[in-house]
Amino acid sequence: MIEREQLEMDVVFVGAGPANLAAALHLKKKIAEHDEFVEKGMKPGRIIGDLEIAIVEKGPFVGAHILSGAVMDPIAIRELMPDFLEQGCPVDSAVTSDAFWYMTESRAINAPIVPPPLKNKGKYIVSLSKICEWLAEKCEEAGINIFPEFPASEVLYDEHDRVIGIRTGDKGIDKEGRSKGNYEPGVDLLAKMTVLGEGSRGSLAKHLMQRLGLMEGKEPQVFSLGVKELWEVPAGNFDEGKVVHTLGFPSDTDTYGGGWIYGMKNNIVSIGYVTGLDYKDPNIDPHAEFQKFKTHPKIAEILQGGKMLKYGAKTINTSGFWTMPRLYSDGVLIIGDSASFLNGQRIKGIHTAMKSGMLAAETIVSAFEHQDFTSAVLKHIEEKVHLSWIYDELHPVRNFHASFQSGRWSALINTGLQFVTGGLAWGFMPKEHHVAGYERMEKLESYQNDGTRYENVKFDKSLTFDKVTDVFHAGVAHDEDQPSHLHVLDTEICATRCAEEYGNPCQRFCPAAVYEMEFNPKTDRKELKVNFSNCVHCKTCDIADPYQIINWVTPEGGGGPNYKGM
Ligand SMILES: Cc1cc2nc3c(=O)[nH]c(=O)nc-3n(C[C@H](O)[C@H](O)[C@H](O)COP(=O)(O)OP(=O)(O)OC[C@H]3O[C@@H](n4cnc5c(N)ncnc54)[C@H](O)[C@@H]3O)c2cc1C
Repeated sequence: MIEREQLEMDVVFVGAGPANLAAALHLKKKIAEHDEFVEKGMKPGRIIGDLEIAIVEKGPFVGAHILSGAVMDPIAIRELMPDFLEQGCPVDSAVTSDAFWYMTESRAINAPIVPPPLKNKGKYIVSLSKICEWLAEKCEEAGINIFPEFPASEVLYDEHDRVIGIRTGDKGIDKEGRSKGNYEPGVDLLAKMTVLGEGSRGSLAKHLMQRLGLMEGKEPQVFSLGVKELWEVPAGNFDEGKVVHTLGFPSDTDTYGGGWIYGMKNNIVSIGYVTGLDYKDPNIDPHAEFQKFKTHPKIAEILQGGKMLKYGAKTINTSGFWTMPRLYSDGVLIIGDSASFLNGQRIKGIHTAMKSGMLAAETIVSAFEHQDFTSAVLKHIEEKVHLSWIYDELHPVRNFHASFQSGRWSALINTGLQFVTGGLAWGFMPKEHHVAGYERMEKLESYQNDGTRYENVKFDKSLTFDKVTDVFHAGVAHDEDQPSHLHVLDTEICATRCAEEYGNPCQRFCPAAVYEMEFNPKTDRKELKVNFSNCVHCKTCDIADPYQIINWVTPEGGGGPNYKGM
């Protein structure tokens, strides 16, 4: 029996992303306000006092595992901190112009009118990693404890399935599972309130939703994969403050996808491509789709003479309103991307993640006021969401992603109809509405790979990069002498059924060359090799595997990509 240290906290936030950082800061502010009003007799109730608040983060520092585009809608940060700019929030550039390009193979057709959801003038181009680092400093100034290098590896429950905190991952275990000299067992952080803000496909949130049935009556969450590079380009190639979104090439019409190019200060360009992880063709490789996007003459022209600086890939929870889990259970709340708060039509989730965190904070104040941490009080988070601008923004686009599951053309008609009907328009929707991405992948027999899809991508390490080179630019590091954090539950399926039926799509959907089928002379067949140390923590494998036999769990603290400044 392992002896573990137990630390008693009042509130534990899992993940230092925009959702939880905003939540923790707002909580501090709201408690101070509440106590002041009670003290002055302006409000009935009890004084809450100073709470012990902790944020645990798996990355080596806050921001290390944060990857976004990003154009930030400042609506939430302005509510959190009206003087965020005066306080030094490190936004990069204000958006000065917007464009929407429809891409054919050789042309980029500039839409005469930018669709309203993609208008960004007045918003900010940011490095979300920098913003989170800065918000973490603000949290620490406010007395909130931040523990980087502390992955939460499991949720702790009492005998009635009430959440009572989290356990952090053990350190110093070798790849055979034996303790090394530096072994340190994980700590149990016991808390009256636990908040999961782990981002897209949170590993604890996934477990919690399954165990407590929080997705009952909801549609399955559907994800996309965003693959991004930061480039330095010659002056004049792309203006600072310019925002371009694209549709079309290289996605086929059955596949949800689109690109972005954002002009930042000092001739830095953020460029990336999003591929829906509900594609049908098992030969699709989202990393190669992005590389192909860059070969388009209009895009290649922008990057001409430039240098790729950094790489990253992360999933995006794009399905929205219908796929939000129940946001509460006894002792716990789920916020941000883990709970489908992103607006899939705008591919924006920073502001909704922050706002969901602020509403969680207000719910937690009520829980402490009444000393009641059960669902009876915590259920009010849903009411708060419904009464906030989150509902006004997400409800009208509730059918957006599902309509793309019928193909691009019907989706475009449907999106137009949704725009005028406030989100209705069912005519072209798939019968089942949102369908989990892995269920949509079709077998190889329907999609023979004739090798032409990526034939023009040269991976020349100048314009286009192979996965291994890109992973190097993600600064990924994991101690190799630890158990793999990618649990493949039945590798026999990989060598047999999956090889035959889907051609082992993990080799393609993983954007970090983690999965390889390698010939084993002893068994005379190809078998799965998992290069877990390449993993960029995007969670694609956990989501897209057609047999759902890959489980992403947290590796030893501090391991993973380094997205500083991304
Ligand atoms: C490629 C890409 C482009 C995007 N572009 C935009 C854009 O232009 N505008 C916009 O508004 N939104 C954009 N988004 C979406 C936006 O980034 C997210 O909606 C937002 O970051 C969600 O915030 P979050 O706090 O919920 O999660 P995240 O930002 O994902 O943060 C979660 C944090 O929790 C940590 N964590 C996870 N699990 C654990 C654990 N078990 N223990 C400890 N720590 C853990 C992670 O390391 C991470 O630091 C984009 C997303 C991607 C991937």
